[in-house]
Amino acid sequence: MSERQEAGTATTHRVLVLGAGYAGMAAAVQLAARVGRRDDVRVTLVNAQERFTERLRLHMTATGQRVDQLSIPQLLEGTGARFVRGWVTAVDADARTVRIDDDRMLHYDTLVYGLGGVADPAAVPGVEDHAFTLDSAQDAELLAGRLARLGSGTVVVVGTGLTGVESAAEIAERYPKLTVVLLGRDEPGAAMHPKAGAYLRSALARLGVEVSGAVEVVKVLPHAVGLAGGERIAADVVLWTGGTRTSPLAAAAGLTVDERGRVVTDATLRSVSHPDVYAVGDAAAIRQRYGVMHGTCQGGMPTGVHAAVSIVRALAGKRPRPFRFGYYHTPVSLGRHDAVVQFTRPDDSPRRVYLTGRTAARYKETVTASPWPTYGRMKKAPASGAFWPRGGRFTREER
Ligand SMILES: Cc1cc2nc3c(=O)[nH]c(=O)nc-3n(C[C@H](O)[C@H](O)[C@H](O)COP(=O)(O)OP(=O)(O)OC[C@H]3O[C@@H](n4cnc5c(N)ncnc54)[C@H](O)[C@@H]3O)c2cc1C
Repeated sequence: MSERQEAGTATTHRVLVLGAGYAGMAAAVQLAARVGRRDDVRVTLVNAQERFTERLRLHMTATGQRVDQLSIPQLLEGTGARFVRGWVTAVDADARTVRIDDDRMLHYDTLVYGLGGVADPAAVPGVEDHAFTLDSAQDAELLAGRLARLGSGTVVVVGTGLTGVESAAEIAERYPKLTVVLLGRDEPGAAMHPKAGAYLRSALARLGVEVSGAVEVVKVLPHAVGLAGGERIAADVVLWTGGTRTSPLAAAAGLTVDERGRVVTDATLRSVSHPDVYAVGDAAAIRQRYGVMHGTCQGGMPTGVHAAVSIVRALAGKRPRPFRFGYYHTPVSLGRHDAVVQFTRPDDSPRRVYLTGRTAARYKETVTASPWPTYGRMKKAPASGAFWPRGGRFTREER
């Protein structure tokens, strides 16, 4: 794209979407589909890679399983949206520019900030130097290579959240000769209904995963992890899934962020400090009546769609509507043949209803496979992406 093309004309409204994860893709496709025939709006999507990273499958990639190669430029074909491959190095929220690592400068009138989150390398000493993470497909492929070469030994997975549980189960199932240890502050499945949590723990035990759910890992060493009490657990491989942080770019740009670096938004998903910036997905701190949303794909895609719809409304001189979202499930894979699907209230608290076994595994696979075809449908029928549970009384603001 030439500098002249990029700058557009004085009457062109330039929307720049940063990050083609689940949320940024939803924003770019939804917006492009809605403004497709207009020549006064230009949509540009920036992402580090051309390949769409299915984060929901990174534990599969990390265990050497083939996943589809999904091309972002191909998906955008016919929508009118442009794709720029590059690593964003700076946002200037006053000048409304974004710098890419090859020193290109992109200008915007409206920015959609969707750069996601990554494992916090500063969580404890040694993570950056001695632990694997599941932040990108490349990270997962590195781990896959290491596991394939290992033969025997101990893999320590740190973090008993859903990513840690799914990864430990997957590694144990694919590599039964390895000892897999899962460590974290809480029991795995602690946030689920007691019976669903018990099922999850028994499935981990069946796969041979050794679980310690009340430990504090304070450092990662070349061949071990150190616990708060001074104990060391030997490890040939450490996978770190404890704690996430977001890109420092938003804070550096002067946007108001929370303690984890997420962009603080108003009810319509605009930055509270810079209303020409919308924040979506894991990179945003979005408050609902029940609290600040936590990062998920189920909530991230609606934020992208809502931001796109709000931008179209604003361009038409209408006020953007408040964003409302209620959770409805927590699907957790336990290898390829087992899973737990915990159905939830809109505030993410567990209901009594849950699925287990092969039915749950099929449900989880359906959910995991659904985003890409959803984007394809949105290209033709943008409204098809605009259905999600709004949360009823859990998100309705009192008057
Ligand atoms: C193993 C695993 C399993 C999961 N399972 C589930 C699940 O079952 N259900 C669920 O709801 N959630 C699940 N999640 C969480 C879910 O993946 C995230 O909440 C979701 O990916 C957030 O979407 P996002 O678009 O905000 O960010 P991301 O998907 O992380 O996308 C961010 C994009 O921005 C790009 N990017 C970042 N920084 C830059 C930069 N400086 N320049 C250019 N590009 C950049 C990245 O390359 C990426 O493409 C899981 C996560 C993992 C790791």
